[in-house]
Amino acid sequence: MAKVIREVIKIDEELCDGCGLCVPACAEGAIQIVDGKARLVSDRYCDGLGACLGECPQGAITFQKRDAEEKFIYLTQRHCFLGIFVIP
Ligand code: SF4
Repeated sequence: MAKVIREVIKIDEELCDGCGLCVPACAEGAIQIVDGKARLVSDRYCDGLGACLGECPQGAITFQKRDAEEKFIYLTQRHCFLGIFVIP
């Protein structure tokens, strides 16, 4: 998988209390709670749009611009505007 410089989320483990509010906020499924802390599952799933940022009451999520895997683009019911449903 090719890497490019782009914005992806960064989760501060010290600030994160594991509440899990960011998980459903991410339509791409890029965040999971592992060992009581939010984790970015894969760079590929983070679209860099930051839907999760406003959901974090601890301010634990920020953007960082770095070398990351290219986005994995897929269509789900939540993303589809054309009536074509493709579930990965
Ligand atoms: S919303 Fe914030 S505090 Fe809660 S799990 Fe996600 S990163 Fe951690």
